[in-house]
Amino acid sequence: MTLLLGCIADDFTGATDLAGMLVRAGMRTVQMIGVPQAPLPPDIDAVVIALKSRTTPAGDAIDESLAALKWLKTAGCRQLYFKYCSTFDSTDAGNIGPVTDALMRALNTRFTIACPAFPENKRTVFKGYLFVGDVLLSESSMRDHPLTPMRDANLVRVLQRQTDRKVGLISHETVSAGATAIATRMDSLRSEGVEIAIVDAISNEDLMRIGAACAGLPLVTAGSGIALGLPQNFRKAGLLNRQAAADQLQFPQGLRAVIAGSCSAATQAQVAHYIDEGQPAFAIDPLRIAAGVDVVAQALAWATPLLRDSAPLIYATASPDNVKMVQTQLGAERAGALVEQALSAIAWGLVERGVRQLIVAGGETSGAVVGALDVDGLHIGPQIDPGVPWTKSLGDAPLALALKSGNFGSVDFFTKAWSMLP
Ligand code: ADP
Repeated sequence: MTLLLGCIADDFTGATDLAGMLVRAGMRTVQMIGVPQAPLPPDIDAVVIALKSRTTPAGDAIDESLAALKWLKTAGCRQLYFKYCSTFDSTDAGNIGPVTDALMRALNTRFTIACPAFPENKRTVFKGYLFVGDVLLSESSMRDHPLTPMRDANLVRVLQRQTDRKVGLISHETVSAGATAIATRMDSLRSEGVEIAIVDAISNEDLMRIGAACAGLPLVTAGSGIALGLPQNFRKAGLLNRQAAADQLQFPQGLRAVIAGSCSAATQAQVAHYIDEGQPAFAIDPLRIAAGVDVVAQALAWATPLLRDSAPLIYATASPDNVKMVQTQLGAERAGALVEQALSAIAWGLVERGVRQLIVAGGETSGAVVGALDVDGLHIGPQIDPGVPWTKSLGDAPLALALKSGNFGSVDFFTKAWSMLP
């Protein structure tokens, strides 16, 4: 195995996003769900281990991250990448600072960068301040996030509150002067006792320059943007000579279906669009599940005769008013769990009936479906829309899976995704 880059991502859809970026930049990449238990396929350049460590207690996040690091080091990865959200989702208690600290200690390194910038998705860092679109992070909707409210846009300050190590800044002036200037600034920061540097970036060119300057760092911490700039280093060192496109996979053929458990605006529009196009659709009502109706059996009985000639949609997607009404009656957590259980049982039933190509909408929903299908890893294929690639599950009976975070994708996402498969 010649693994080059080992990544630890603090959530599932963030891991897919990063893996997609690496594939785009020419590295063959697999995403593992948790620390790998099964062997990886041969011929892989990068692996992304997806954890659920963004909002867990800091001690748990550290333990899980160190277990992932141990596996990646044993697998021979030459560089480590800790991936967090491009909006730097964290609290003063963690988990970005504590996990970075623990990884630095374990790797015995005294310097790394922290750069959540992802200009293509309108996340830019300037003078250490993170912007979301045209406004500061602290003025964006992240201000009122239920778990990680971001009320300070100055990342040097934000990170300094999470770590005892000295945090510094590599400003855009330096970044725009190129990789050598960035590396020189890293040296001077090191001599000032700075151990973690927030780095400004407002364009893909900046990401490429920063990436080049990170060639010698054992650990990089970042959003997914920096991933664009790292593969060039391996290529330059003669370690990545692949000519064939990194996203070329042989997808399994078979029946198709769509499962939607997201109620996000983008998914609502996608579901409505698919139905308008004349595709068959079956709505799941959480109140009927709660009343004891065997909705799973009903959905499967409905879908089975349709699978030969169409790609039926089974959805719990509903309007905000409807969701509120259901949550008032059942409680938000119970409603979510009932729907996730039903949809994942339906996914399992569909695969049993010969479905080999499956689209799932919703982050939590995807996690539940992948768990029910016993998928422990995904080979990352071509991008359908930004942040959502087609993937192929690892193992003897692979599935083509498109796992879409709720708000991702254009209105015709489902049909667009189908048009890319054989
Ligand atoms: P997203 O990526 O859009 O956040 P998720 O799948 O992560 O989507 O989360 C959506 C949550 O809403 C899931 O827990 C799902 O079970 C739940 N849910 C889906 N449909 C309904 C509904 N009609 N009423 C209440 N909860 C629902």
